[in-house]
Amino acid sequence: MMKDDCIFCKLANGVFDTNVIYEDGDFTVILDVNPATRGHALILPKEHYANIYELDDETAGKAFRLAKKLSTQMTEKLNCDGFNILQNNGEAAGQTVFHFHMHLIPRYKDDKALLQWKPGKPSEDELKALRDMLKTN
Ligand code: AMP
Ligand code: ZN
Repeated sequence: MMKDDCIFCKLANGVFDTNVIYEDGDFTVILDVNPATRGHALILPKEHYANIYELDDETAGKAFRLAKKLSTQMTEKLNCDGFNILQNNGEAAGQTVFHFHMHLIPRYKDDKALLQWKPGKPSEDELKALRDMLKTN
């Protein structure tokens, strides 16, 4: 289902014109209008899901398969040196458009396009307590 006030619903379903680089029954892939690097693209499901928590397993699987296929092809075409797949959920994580999307970000040597995180230094005990809390099947 499309959500009336969602810009990515409109872009993914051809209501608004944009730069589409791939389309199938489930997804539209468009060029980011404010790219981090040359070739930065966004995988948009045609259905509206606000974030990864709402996404169904089948669409999640298809999205990652598509990310693999396109990142491989784009690396060849752009001759980039590396590739980031980025996916933000929630304002605290940097999400600004609340329709699930995956960023395909080609990387070029020394482009300094994305901030790296500052590595933490948890104690062994903290790590073990976290492991016990998060462990799942
Ligand atoms: P996020 O911060 O993960 O929600 O990413 C949203 C991305 O959507 C940003 O990289 C924006 O540059 C991009 N964006 C926002 N509006 C448009 C648009 N109309 N067409 C293409 N990309 C867009
Ligand atoms: Zn939407």
